[in-house]
Amino acid sequence: MRVVLLGAPGAGKGTQAQVLVERLGFIHIATGEILRAAVREQSPLGIQVQAMMASGQLVPDRLMIALVEERLQQAGDRPCLLDGFPRTLAQAEALTQAGIKLDQVVHLAVPEAVLIRRLSGRRVHRPSGRLYHIDYQPPRVADRDDITGEPLNTRPDDDEATIRQRLMIYQAQTVPLIAYYQQQALQGRTRYVALEANQPAVAVSAQLLALFPQQTA
Ligand code: ADP
Ligand code: AMP
Repeated sequence: MRVVLLGAPGAGKGTQAQVLVERLGFIHIATGEILRAAVREQSPLGIQVQAMMASGQLVPDRLMIALVEERLQQAGDRPCLLDGFPRTLAQAEALTQAGIKLDQVVHLAVPEAVLIRRLSGRRVHRPSGRLYHIDYQPPRVADRDDITGEPLNTRPDDDEATIRQRLMIYQAQTVPLIAYYQQQALQGRTRYVALEANQPAVAVSAQLLALFPQQTA
């Protein structure tokens, strides 16, 4: 089982992925998380990509495709959730050409004004990846992780100018994937569904979990 979460920055992909991982045991392949870990470690990949990430640019397709194909190979037959990949037509076509079948593509649809509010208030517990929002999903104690009590962080690319840059890139480079996967679905190669994701996270999760009744049982 391979599932893609498609959606703009701030659509709630990471938040929903955590639910699918916990409830259904998916392996979470989140390309942004993998790259941020590489930057923290200052690995050769991290050094190569850090300026692009900080300015909200996309990392070159060939790097991303190699990285994801390796992760998918490691996962073998276990169910995988792709979060943040594919993000360009070239990335999507590379998966198709490699014969990697996607069982379900889920588009989390959220209006742009809401995305900006979500990203501006996002807080992250870096060691675990747990996500919070100062208004919508506040931690129990301000600026502290609920489980460990450690401080929360703001992502450096969540400042307003970089958010706008990332949303522009999403429109130009990632939105075409919606039509691409709708077409793939018409040809019976995958299933595609768009969920109304401008709702509380629990309501989005309920819609999402309903797509996988056989796994939930
Ligand atoms: P993405 O992975 O798509 O960039 P995130 O899951 O990190 O998005 O969510 C972005 C921000 O919005 C986070 O601060 C998160 O807590 C918050 N958020 C996620 N889903 C919802 C929702 N349904 N309603 C309100 N806020 C949400
Ligand atoms: P995310 O955590 O998904 O918001 O991604 C953060 C950043 O990582 C993006 O702004 C890009 O710089 C980079 N990135 C993540 N996934 C991809 C991808 N599939 N293709 C290119 N760049 C990516």
